[in-house]
Amino acid sequence: MSAPRVQAPEALVRALKAASTVALVTHLNPDGDGLGAEAALALALESLGKRVAVLNNDATPAQYSFLGLEERRPSGAFDADLAISLDCPVLERLGERGQAAFKAAPATVVIDHHVPKEPFGQQVWVSTESCATGEMIEALLPQLGVALTAPMATALYAAVVNDTGCFRHSNTDALVFALAGRLLAAGADAKDVNRRLLDEKPLSMVRLQAHVLDRLRVLAGGRAALVSVGAADLKAFGATWEDTDGLAEGLRSIAGVQVSAMLRQEGEAKAKLSLRSKYDFDVNIFAGRWGGGGHAKAAGATVPLPFEAAVEAVAGALEEALGK
Ligand code: 5GP
Ligand code: MN
Repeated sequence: MSAPRVQAPEALVRALKAASTVALVTHLNPDGDGLGAEAALALALESLGKRVAVLNNDATPAQYSFLGLEERRPSGAFDADLAISLDCPVLERLGERGQAAFKAAPATVVIDHHVPKEPFGQQVWVSTESCATGEMIEALLPQLGVALTAPMATALYAAVVNDTGCFRHSNTDALVFALAGRLLAAGADAKDVNRRLLDEKPLSMVRLQAHVLDRLRVLAGGRAALVSVGAADLKAFGATWEDTDGLAEGLRSIAGVQVSAMLRQEGEAKAKLSLRSKYDFDVNIFAGRWGGGGHAKAAGATVPLPFEAAVEAVAGALEEALGK
């Protein structure tokens, strides 16, 4: 059987083995990769007799309830001797509570596949060639002496499906298919994950997205597409941030569009930007204008402006970068 693409540094593996209570955290607005990686790693560490808590800033979206993460959220204080951050390139993106949990631990580990921004953590393992943080966790398991079980494989399959757009994005290569083969051979329930992640949407999502797409802006001579979601839009459809998922990705499929953007109001002077690129435009660099980042083809940032001004700033920046 094929082998994983990467290996965790030995010192990091030792730090994990030495811990007896472990706190896991992932980024704000958590996705299938951060959550799937957490679930698999939690199961692995528990099989080694460790106590594990999930201390994410945000609650787990309903779509991912099958990962069993909320069940690992302690009701009281949790004294971790090791904190592990998964799928998060900057400390700030752990959110207030996630950061607090991470900083409280005497030993810290970072496992991530984003382009490094502001490195943090004592033991850092970053692999930008990995399609998902989940791919790195699959490589880590044998190093920990843990056999891949079906529930772990299902969680890691969710991570890979999330970050490869179900094996469609350019980060899908032969090693990703080999990884998927190992996960399925270990008993991953691909059918159930595909249904939950790809084939089922809340009605509020469909209605919200239909509404905001009505005022889609096509910019830079058709090379960019921008959609904005105000707080009032969310309210009108009883929608949450989770219901904006997939909007930027959907716009990228418009013929001729090279870069798609979705801006979501997040307060009086804050908007969340999601970017997707189809060809060689690097949205990780573009997101850097506002201190954001991610990957070349999928990135994000927080734009520190009132909503309308943020929309105009992003529209202007897209036309500046791609021409009118
Ligand atoms: P999404 O648009 O799905 O929220 O994020 C796309 C990619 O960009 C993900 O890999 C995500 O981690 C990254 N990303 C999103 N927002 C930010 C941000 O504010 N800062 C940084 N550094 N990365 C982000
Ligand atoms: Mn990821």
